Amino acid sequence: MSPADAPSSGRVVLVTGGNRGIGLATATAFADAGHRVAVTYRSQAPDDDRFLCVPCDVADTAQVEAAFEKVESELGPVEVLVANAGMTRDGLVLRMSDDDFADVLDTNLTGAFRCARRAVKQMMRARWGRIVLLSSIVGTAGQAGQANYAASKAGLVGLARSLAREFASRNVTVNVVAPGPIATDMTDALTDDQRAAMGQAVPLGRFGTPDEVAATIRFLASDEAGYITGAVIPVDGGLGMGS
Ligand code: NDP
Repeated sequence: MSPADAPSSGRVVLVTGGNRGIGLATATAFADAGHRVAVTYRSQAPDDDRFLCVPCDVADTAQVEAAFEKVESELGPVEVLVANAGMTRDGLVLRMSDDDFADVLDTNLTGAFRCARRAVKQMMRARWGRIVLLSSIVGTAGQAGQANYAASKAGLVGLARSLAREFASRNVTVNVVAPGPIATDMTDALTDDQRAAMGQAVPLGRFGTPDEVAATIRFLASDEAGYITGAVIPVDGGLGMGS
């Protein structure tokens, strides 16, 4: 089958960190559209029997390998990878330990690398693939108290664009979604004052929803988005104005 004839639904989709927040909204959007969806989780599997739920810490290469093997044996090769799993460990640089820096990089950046490296093997063979990496507006704008997180999110752009170049000839696209503040557990951890200040800074005057990020990810994974690769798509209410 040529890529042009490939089906636009019924793809095998893997969403890392698909048990809550943006990941859960993304997995739900793909399942609603008729795709076969696997999610990874660490703490608790999501309560949706349409998903194949696989335990996986993306900071552990062996667990990533085991998760892909499980998905391949139950659903088939991963055709769409959404590298969403992410964490924060905020603190001002002068008080940030080596571990605080390294752990965030290991999950957010190296975790995405581990998953993408594993996913492209099968995508190359199929000559069709979609990879979407979750960055953040903080990756380009920076954020006091988030040097580790911002560095990891900036790194994802270089990773995505390198992957995009390496695998373009195999019809694998690699793109980045860069959300602004989105209402999830991650932003619930902020103080009320911090949340209010963030909301006011956004031209659209509010936090985004996980569903709004999920819709963009789903578009980038579609056949209609086949000519988009190496792009960084902001979903930020105008906060970065495209930067
Ligand atoms: P949440 O904190 O709500 O969820 C984080 C998810 O990542 C959970 O599913 C969690 O799994 C998973 N996760 C964390 N560490 C690991 C790990 N080592 N291995 C596997 N899974 C892990 O975050 P959001 O939904 O808000 O964020 C999702 C992504 O979007 C992240 O990459 C985040 O950086 C990014 N983002 C979020 C923004 C926001 O405002 N919310 C803004 C910009 C970007 P578990 O529950 O099992 O721990």
